[in-house]
Amino acid sequence: MERALTEAVRSRRPGVQQRRHGRGLLLLEAIGTLIGESGDLRATLDRIVALVAERLDMEVCSIYRFVPEANRLTMVATHGLDPGSVDNVSMGIDEGLTGFALEKGEPVMAIDALAHPRYKYFPETGEERYHSFLGVPIVDRREPLGVLVVQTSRRRRFSRDEVRLMKAVAVPIGGLLVQLRLLESLESKEEERRGYHQRMLDAIKRLQVYERQQGSADVPTAVTAVRVNGIPAAPGFGIGRAHLLVPDVSFSSIAERRPQAPRKELSRFQAAIARSVEEVERLKERVQASCPEIDATLFDAQRLMLTDESFRARVEAEISAGASAERALERVVTAMVAEFSQLEDPYLRARAVDVKDIGQRALRNLLGVAERDRSFASAVVLVARELTLSDIVLIEPEQLKGIVMGAGGSTSHASILAKSLEIPTVVGVERIDEIHEGTHLIVDGNAGVVYVRPGAEVVREYGRLKDEYAAFNRELDSLRTQPAVTRDGCRVMLSANIGLLGDLPLALRHGADRVGLYRTEFAFLSHRDFLNEAEQVTLYERVVHAAEGLPLTVRTLDLGADKYPPYFNVPLEANPFLGWRSIRVSLELASVFKTQLRAILRTTPSGTLRIMLPMISSLEELRRSRELLEEAKDELRREGHGFDEGVQLGMMVEVPSAVELADRFIDEVDFFSIGTNDLIQYLLAVDRNNRKVASLYEPLHPAVLRAIASVVRVATASGKPVSLCGEMAADPVCTLVLIGLGLRDLSMSAFFIPVIKRLIRSVEIDIAERVASDVLELATVKEVKRHIFEVMRELGVIDLMETYH
Ligand code: PEP
Ligand code: MG
Repeated sequence: MERALTEAVRSRRPGVQQRRHGRGLLLLEAIGTLIGESGDLRATLDRIVALVAERLDMEVCSIYRFVPEANRLTMVATHGLDPGSVDNVSMGIDEGLTGFALEKGEPVMAIDALAHPRYKYFPETGEERYHSFLGVPIVDRREPLGVLVVQTSRRRRFSRDEVRLMKAVAVPIGGLLVQLRLLESLESKEEERRGYHQRMLDAIKRLQVYERQQGSADVPTAVTAVRVNGIPAAPGFGIGRAHLLVPDVSFSSIAERRPQAPRKELSRFQAAIARSVEEVERLKERVQASCPEIDATLFDAQRLMLTDESFRARVEAEISAGASAERALERVVTAMVAEFSQLEDPYLRARAVDVKDIGQRALRNLLGVAERDRSFASAVVLVARELTLSDIVLIEPEQLKGIVMGAGGSTSHASILAKSLEIPTVVGVERIDEIHEGTHLIVDGNAGVVYVRPGAEVVREYGRLKDEYAAFNRELDSLRTQPAVTRDGCRVMLSANIGLLGDLPLALRHGADRVGLYRTEFAFLSHRDFLNEAEQVTLYERVVHAAEGLPLTVRTLDLGADKYPPYFNVPLEANPFLGWRSIRVSLELASVFKTQLRAILRTTPSGTLRIMLPMISSLEELRRSRELLEEAKDELRREGHGFDEGVQLGMMVEVPSAVELADRFIDEVDFFSIGTNDLIQYLLAVDRNNRKVASLYEPLHPAVLRAIASVVRVATASGKPVSLCGEMAADPVCTLVLIGLGLRDLSMSAFFIPVIKRLIRSVEIDIAERVASDVLELATVKEVKRHIFEVMRELGVIDLMETYH
């Protein structure tokens, strides 16, 4: 089998390699052409950074040159950062990640540069929104010349191929930097030209040598280590030996035997069904205990299939016609799988997996084979083409270090369970057959990559990442129990946004004061129908329990736009974010909405809950929602269900009309929460999910700041609480302004709580208030940012951010 993998890799290799080299060579050729055509070094460098960014699909590409006299690096060209930084941004070689690349003489990569110990913040560049960083030193015969850097806003790893290509691109750039140096030092134009050509010739020669070396170096590493891509489904890094999930029994391997009398075969079949039903019941209990977001009624569906009259009748007819129980079962299950697979409805089509699952289970029980013991001597990474929930729950979570799946999407049931159990998972892995039992694997659930038999280099890199995570967690621990309070004693509540039960441990670990936003629609995305009241009560009670006493703001369903459950049939809309979404859906599906309100109300006695309505754009919507809430309360009173009579009802302010009418709304709600994710997109007419316009999506836009200021003013004047729960709450660059505008409750992904807490604990509220009132006077994003950075620099909090982690 090992040999088969090696062969498979070898046979696939040339195609991949050719494509990769093809792309690399085209880029290098284009750079060569630019250099050849240009007489202006500066312009050439500008064109090169634009070309590299475009061809490698990076948002930023910059070149820094090393000035030996000053022992500093200075930016000489950039695509993506503020052009004003060229020749102005400079750093010592012991500063920042760029300096680190030069200092090390090796490429430096950071998935989240802001979290890297060597990160240094250069506000002038506008680089704060770029997370991932790759810096490659530009070196000529051991002499450092500079650093070539690419950055992306998406947190991602850079592949080995990308690093190699960058190294190759750095070679001709090295020639240009040498030229630049020459240009500045040599007086004679004639000498410049001669030197330039000579350096170019040298650079091209070096490039050829480099290419040859790279070409030959590829082969041995590729044969031993394989990197396969998939879709990230549950975050984290997992390392362990592959355990291939093969069924305990299979129809194809049953030996032919002469059937006993039909009566006997029938009773064997019935006994097997009875045992299977018991097993399914036990599984249901296990899943309910470990992950309430999973629709445990899936197991009811399996039980129903097993006990279904027509299923039995079909098997019994086969037996009566002379087949053994095993063959009869095989024929019926095969036919049913084929029938399900042809159904139009994708959800029902996917249920073919359940039919296979019950077929396997019944067969195993027919053959009297016990369920295989799923305990392992060491940590395993579960590998399978398709995984059912039963496959995952049968393994002890401590032994399960990762999951690799051929099929499946990131919202499949198996993925949701994996997320909840915090098991790093990659799904949709194409070359799953190349993984063999016992093979050493690294599962990178953040990037969606699996390393099969990783080389020492990859193991070292992942070891480093794990250590960094551990160090980061230690750092967090020291902050966890401390409040977010400014130096002059102003307390700010830092709350967590959650979607799944599995988000709560992180919220607690990061010291959240509250749950400021519980996005209830997430659980609905993984079910096969709207959750009924009892299921919702169970779920919300578990959330309350897991929140360990933290007050919870439960947001009612926010479906539509980019969140469609599989059972939600809506025609394709031209503008889904302006379409049938959120509260509009809830008000139209009033019985679904009321069921949710009843379930939340019924949970109120077990915790401190308040209810929040999403996307309210008119008083009519608010009033109709309140009517439904009152109806739900009346019903519960009549039915004798207890609930918190004083439960608060609030609304999200995330539509411009709600900002404009805030003074009207505030009289009819108990609290506001500003949802900047949507508010920014609606206010600035910038799609929040469209990469093409991402640079226009700007939280510090003066219009956004004015809108926030006016909502806070209205709420504060009426003495009602107001919080902010968009991603902006997690951006340290916005913190001073937000607390300065009067916000005392910021809700964010729990991961960011510590950094915001640190910042708040190092500033004074009057300074934040002054910054807020200053920026409200400014007209452009650039001015706003410049002002904030200046103040942060003066306060020394930029340095604090640099040294954080
Ligand atoms: C928002 O719009 O700011 C918000 C918090 O809600 P969501 O991101 O779920 O739309
Ligand atoms: Mg929203």
